[in-house]
Amino acid sequence: MQKFNKNLFPTDYASIVDKINKIHPEQYAKSSNFLNGHVTYLSPYISRGVISVKQVRDAVLKNGFSSFQSEKLIQELAWREYFQRVWQAKKELIWKDLKQAQPDVQHHKMPTALLEAFTGIQVIDEQIQHLYDGGYAHNHIRMYLAAIACNIGKAHWEQPAKWMYYHLLDGDMASNNCSWQWVAGAFSSKKYYCNQENINKYTHTNQLDTFMDTSYEEIIDMQVPNTLIATSNLQLTTKLPITELPKIDVTKPTLIYNSYNLDPKWRKNENVNRVLLLESSHFANYPVSENVLNFIIALSKNIQNIQIVVGEMDAIKALYEEKGMAIREAIISKEHPLFEHYPGIKDQREWLFPGVTGYFPSFSSFWKKCQR
Ligand SMILES: Cc1cc2nc3c(=O)[nH]c(=O)nc-3n(C[C@H](O)[C@H](O)[C@H](O)COP(=O)(O)OP(=O)(O)OC[C@H]3O[C@@H](n4cnc5c(N)ncnc54)[C@H](O)[C@@H]3O)c2cc1C
Repeated sequence: MQKFNKNLFPTDYASIVDKINKIHPEQYAKSSNFLNGHVTYLSPYISRGVISVKQVRDAVLKNGFSSFQSEKLIQELAWREYFQRVWQAKKELIWKDLKQAQPDVQHHKMPTALLEAFTGIQVIDEQIQHLYDGGYAHNHIRMYLAAIACNIGKAHWEQPAKWMYYHLLDGDMASNNCSWQWVAGAFSSKKYYCNQENINKYTHTNQLDTFMDTSYEEIIDMQVPNTLIATSNLQLTTKLPITELPKIDVTKPTLIYNSYNLDPKWRKNENVNRVLLLESSHFANYPVSENVLNFIIALSKNIQNIQIVVGEMDAIKALYEEKGMAIREAIISKEHPLFEHYPGIKDQREWLFPGVTGYFPSFSSFWKKCQR
């Protein structure tokens, strides 16, 4: 059953391009911090590799906006690129505290009040429900959720980050883990705090008397409020469909798509097999909700002659090997830290700043290099 909001997140390519062309970078700069602000809602397509950050920047500039008018938007796109570079450099270590141990951790579980959307902060509870139903949360809401879980509730970031990743249509391990760590003070020099006044301001609400309704000085030293004391163990699984064995013509190469690469323009005119490979091993380690899986499958329909295969890469390899064909040029994918085990040719992803590679300890050092 499809639950994601098809109006907000259509899956056909023409509608996605239309969304890019509707971006107004000046309105974005003025209002994007507010819950009802002019944000692009493009992250589900960027994270799933349907479009690239470069494609978004190039379209905005082509539509007549100057780099000056687009600076805030380009900087946000660069945040995404920054986290991808961190991932390329750190690989599996993005699952560990990156800069320093998260300060003031009391447990490694999920605060139940967030899981069950009963924090008592109305807009937060509503937005958790939106996350469950629609697979999206505004950046400020994500920051509030992470601050409440890790800095007020004193949970280690890993379990709550897995919870959020599970539900996000735009779930991306680099943006997600690094952002959770940034809020929690494991990938930044200090923790991020918010209070009720800040929540009210950016969500246009006016609730008072919640456990967040206090000054910044007090919130930093506050004991875990009663509402956040109960914790839960997460039970996250992905139920993958059963699919038929792929029909592969081994005289042609096979392009491998996955939940991070659903680019319909990739090698579009080549005469090849095209497989969306959903590896059980991947989803066992990094589960996503049924909503997210349906979204991924719906996006794959933009790719001509795509076959959806639930199985492991070894099964695809075996089809070539059984016929005595070499794998080296037969399997083609896009470079990605999660899929290093794929054999064969790896095409590069599209980057905003292809020359700025490697690990930078902070976004500002990365951004300075990009500006140069
Ligand atoms: C705790 C937490 C978890 C997050 N998890 C994810 C995640 O799993 N996947 C994901 O794509 N983003 C994640 N983000 C970043 C950000 O919240 C989303 O990219 C953004 O809200 C997506 O909505 P949008 O496309 O409307 O963004 P817009 O504001 O319209 O921004 C345009 C694009 O810029 C990029 N961008 C904007 N803000 C950020 C940011 N802070 N960090 C990185 N890239 C950014 C995104 O690609 C986004 O699509 C997370 C942020 C936090 C605080």
